[in-house]
Amino acid sequence: MKSTVFFIRSKTGEGLDSLAQKTRRMLESTLGGSTSGESVPIKKGDLIGVKTTFGEKGNIGHLKPPIVRAAVEYVRAAGAKPFVVETNTLYVGQRSNAIDHIQHAYNRGFTPEAIGAPIVIADGLRGENDFSMPLPQLGFKGSKAQGLKGPGLTKTAFIAGAAKASSGFVSLSHVTGHMLTGLGATLKNIGMGLASRGGKLAMHSGVVPKILTDKCKACGLCAEFCPAGAITIKGYSIIDARKCIGCGECLAVCPHEAVKISWDENTENLQKKVAEYCLAILKGKEKKSVFLNFLIHVTEQCDCMDKAYPPAFEDIGILASRDPVAVEQATVDLVREHVREDFFHKAWPNIDYTTQIDYAHEIGLGSKDYELIEVGRGTLQRAPTK
Ligand code: SF4
Ligand code: SF4
Repeated sequence: MKSTVFFIRSKTGEGLDSLAQKTRRMLESTLGGSTSGESVPIKKGDLIGVKTTFGEKGNIGHLKPPIVRAAVEYVRAAGAKPFVVETNTLYVGQRSNAIDHIQHAYNRGFTPEAIGAPIVIADGLRGENDFSMPLPQLGFKGSKAQGLKGPGLTKTAFIAGAAKASSGFVSLSHVTGHMLTGLGATLKNIGMGLASRGGKLAMHSGVVPKILTDKCKACGLCAEFCPAGAITIKGYSIIDARKCIGCGECLAVCPHEAVKISWDENTENLQKKVAEYCLAILKGKEKKSVFLNFLIHVTEQCDCMDKAYPPAFEDIGILASRDPVAVEQATVDLVREHVREDFFHKAWPNIDYTTQIDYAHEIGLGSKDYELIEVGRGTLQRAPTK
């Protein structure tokens, strides 16, 4: 059966009030509400995370507070309790601990007054708060078509604690290109964006963290926090690779930035792990989650870059679905139709960005087969593009 993806057009330069109204309309079309007359699956007492990103300082592409507020108000109108959810970054910067991250959000206009809800950094102060979910528990058997045997690439997913505890998500993704995955949209917003620091580490790296011995002060904090007993201190910290489970705790707690990430995972594995994390994070929350992709101010680089990039093409609109794979497939199809070329491939020719979508489909996260309905106009008949 085909999944349904809703679409509403927008124009470059369209005001934020109008985009906020359209965001609300997409939520009503997808989840139900006053315009559709359908009952909403989000209920009283649900804790619903509105997942977005606040962008790096200097970047201008991220979704703006009125759009986030529209989603918050929709959730509240359904009787549930909304919160705006993000996680700490793996790299050290303004968003690598919860205090700096929340202050950064405030500085960029995401105050509780502006967005109408509190911000929760879901993996705790330094990324230490997570929930370990073995993937075999999900009945995940890998993917023959992708050449994987057994339980896939992720044995245990490290999910941000508050993401695990939430009832569902309204995912608001600003669609961009991405230097590691070619495409950054829903799958990345959820799979990477709601993983704890250990999860991000596991997705980005195939090996254990390294200790920078010249920076290490032998304080022992990493050894104290290491859940695997993998660290000993002998003049400096030493990690036993045979014991390390790659949780990233040492990275999070080291006060001297002496623990280094090996950014060595290839893009194919990284994209597959992102899809596997999506599966783990959304488990049990499928009925109360919805995924919006904004084709507005689309840039080759993602919003984590600290520069203001101009849009690569005119704005297209907003897509929404309850299927995270269908919305992703519809997004790349629509971009290809609109700009008459494979924009994401052209931007990142050495990365096959379709891996994440194909693999997500293979492992049962959703379906690439979809019907596109333009809000107010009905089903769009389109030539197949793949
Ligand atoms: S926490 Fe950092 S500085 Fe302290 S022992 Fe571990 S690596 Fe060294
Ligand atoms: S990443 Fe490895 S060494 Fe670091 S805290 Fe986790 S298990 Fe211990």
